[in-house]
Amino acid sequence: PPLYKQRYQFIKDLVGKYKPKKVADLGCADCTLLQMLKFCSSIEVLAGLDICTSVMKENMHRLSPLPGDYLQPAERPLTVTLHQGSVAHKDPCMLGFDLVTCIELIEHLEQSELMKFPEVVFGFMAPRIVVISTPNFEFNALLPNKALFRHPDHKFEWNQAQFQSWALETARRYDYSVEFTGVGHPPTGMENVGFCTQIGVFVRKYPQTCESAQSEKPTEAVYKMVFRAVY
Ligand code: SAM
Repeated sequence: PPLYKQRYQFIKDLVGKYKPKKVADLGCADCTLLQMLKFCSSIEVLAGLDICTSVMKENMHRLSPLPGDYLQPAERPLTVTLHQGSVAHKDPCMLGFDLVTCIELIEHLEQSELMKFPEVVFGFMAPRIVVISTPNFEFNALLPNKALFRHPDHKFEWNQAQFQSWALETARRYDYSVEFTGVGHPPTGMENVGFCTQIGVFVRKYPQTCESAQSEKPTEAVYKMVFRAVY
């Protein structure tokens, strides 16, 4: 299957393993991953965030309940929301999540946004699990496209050592553990190149932030809700 489907399948498998109730997808773009996650039975709250409203709206209708969803209500409640905003800014609507996914997002961030990102996601949102995927620069030599980066909007592409040192430092600072994996295997004999997409899975080391601790995080709402569906 194409690489993007392998990334989404990786998230689906992780949802199957950890059974999160509340999942947020940061940089959700056209909401393809959210559409897939809608069918995961553990999920009761699903939120998407992107800086670009128009890309979120392209297929937004697919997140709406179908007539059959009303005729045969699911066993569990499900609320799906979409928000316009930046991962460089904190908003209370992103508190209390179990799993936060950032698929092919960080390489699109300006340096100033990338600097704020760890504090927003790991410090403020502080979900139990964070998944971050990003291109592995070392794999580019094996790709037909000989441009420096895989996409003109990429601000950087990190090799394995660069991604891992950033991830380890972030995990250390915010008290998470991190494990590295990826999708898109290198050819036999070239294993040292690593996966085409590198993935870090971060797990919070300290216990659940209780409601009271969350209310001690007074922040003004800055994101704009652009969609809400209740199943
Ligand atoms: N996660 C999706 C996927 O895997 O198919 C889409 C990834 S797309 C390559 C990167 C997305 O990040 C774009 O939709 C872009 O608008 C969004 N983005 C860029 N900067 C952002 C920011 N500061 N905050 C939130 N989203 C941002």
